[in-house]
Amino acid sequence: MIKYINLLATFASAKIQFSSDPVNKGIVIKTTGSWHTVKDDSDHINCRLKGNFRMRGIKTTNPIAVGDSVIYEKSGTHTGIITRILERKNYIIRRATNLAKETQIMAANIDQVLLMITLESPETPLEFVDRFLVSAEAYRIPSILVINKIDLYQVEKMERCAEIRMIYESAGYRVIEISVEEQLNIAGLSDQLEGKYTAIAGNSGVGKTSLINLLCPGLNLKTAPISEYHLSGKHTTTYPEMLELPSGGYIIDTPGIRGFGVMDINRNEIGLYFTDIFNLSANCRFYNCTHIHEPGCAVIDACLKGILHESRYRSYVKLISGEESKYRIA
Ligand code: GDP
Ligand code: ZN
Repeated sequence: MIKYINLLATFASAKIQFSSDPVNKGIVIKTTGSWHTVKDDSDHINCRLKGNFRMRGIKTTNPIAVGDSVIYEKSGTHTGIITRILERKNYIIRRATNLAKETQIMAANIDQVLLMITLESPETPLEFVDRFLVSAEAYRIPSILVINKIDLYQVEKMERCAEIRMIYESAGYRVIEISVEEQLNIAGLSDQLEGKYTAIAGNSGVGKTSLINLLCPGLNLKTAPISEYHLSGKHTTTYPEMLELPSGGYIIDTPGIRGFGVMDINRNEIGLYFTDIFNLSANCRFYNCTHIHEPGCAVIDACLKGILHESRYRSYVKLISGEESKYRIA
């Protein structure tokens, strides 16, 4: 097992059953500890949880998260009691500390992750991108790569942009170049978000808050130099919120996946989650090729021929060799 960064999601099999009959169904769009805002059609119901919820298989500090689909009973015009959490398609968790066993569920049932990167101010290392994508892939959450701040880029950086697009499109990802500042290609991005639950991620300063403000006018999140949530504190209480897009769909602003946790993954599975490497590996001589030293390796061959970009291969080798990334953000 090696350690590597970032978002943790798990296919949850948590089923919490209560005796009461389903009365109303809604989605949790905000939680602040003991109160949860449940959206049911256009209504917002303030709910508490019934009794003592216990999740099977996962120790969490919070039993419920934004994105959860719930059954509730009304206790007043705009208040209610959540009696059941419906089965989760996936969820993102983070650990309070690297060593802590207890986790906090940040969001459930997300359709995709938007990973925002920039080529300058700040420069996002591709190794960071690769680690992120592998992690999302491991839990079958589709990712969209968004390159922001293209208004800043001169010729050289625009060429780099094209190169990055090529690398990640070859790996099967959608790549969208935008400028939040100059509002370039925001419509193209919005199309991808319509009707979906999208979690937004990326290192500090890339423009996530600015994008959210642009997409959700009237919200006015602070774009100040936010002190990123850090993993050192125990039981940090950060409550992610689902922000409704005027065009339909939600942005899930999860501080926990803006920064990164650490997860364990089986080393021999890493090759499965580099989609481009995985596809190439069909032609390796050995079925259990690690693409490091074996003869007849189609991955190494593709890398030598420039078909597989060396940055992808380098990230793969680092992950498989268990080398710690200096780009881990905490
Ligand atoms: P976050 O940490 O990812 O939430 O980043 P912020 O949204 O707080 O943005 C960090 C800085 O980048 C702010 O000063 C923004 O005004 C600036 N910024 C955001 N988007 C763009 C853009 O498209 N172009 C330029 N030039 N600056 C941007
Ligand atoms: Zn191979």
